[in-house]
Amino acid sequence: MATERLVVVGGDAAGMSAAAQAKRLRPDLEIIVFERSPHISYSA
Ligand SMILES: Cc1cc2nc3c(=O)[nH]c(=O)nc-3n(C[C@H](O)[C@H](O)[C@H](O)COP(=O)(O)OP(=O)(O)OC[C@H]3O[C@@H](n4cnc5c(N)ncnc54)[C@H](O)[C@@H]3O)c2cc1C
Repeated sequence: MATERLVVVGGDAAGMSAAAQAKRLRPDLEIIVFERSPHISYSA
């Protein structure tokens, strides 16, 4: 079966919170975050 993938656009508070929560709920998901700046939020 193909891996399901979640794509998040924006790696600041909202994007990283969503990505972290999705991974907690669905550890099997492949999650990709696109962030246009060189830094992401690290405390989400
Ligand atoms: C001056 C100031 C001070 C603040 N101080 C505090 C504080 O002390 N405490 C607090 O809790 N909150 C504070 N905030 C609020 C806090 O910064 C925001 O609520 C929070 O950053 C919102 O996060 P967000 O992910 O919703 O949006 P954003 O921070 O706007 O993040 C969006 C992200 O998406 C990226 N992005 C946008 N378009 C694209 C694209 N096309 N492709 C890839 N990436 C993209 C951007 O680069 C950005 O990283 C402050 C805000 C400001 C302006």
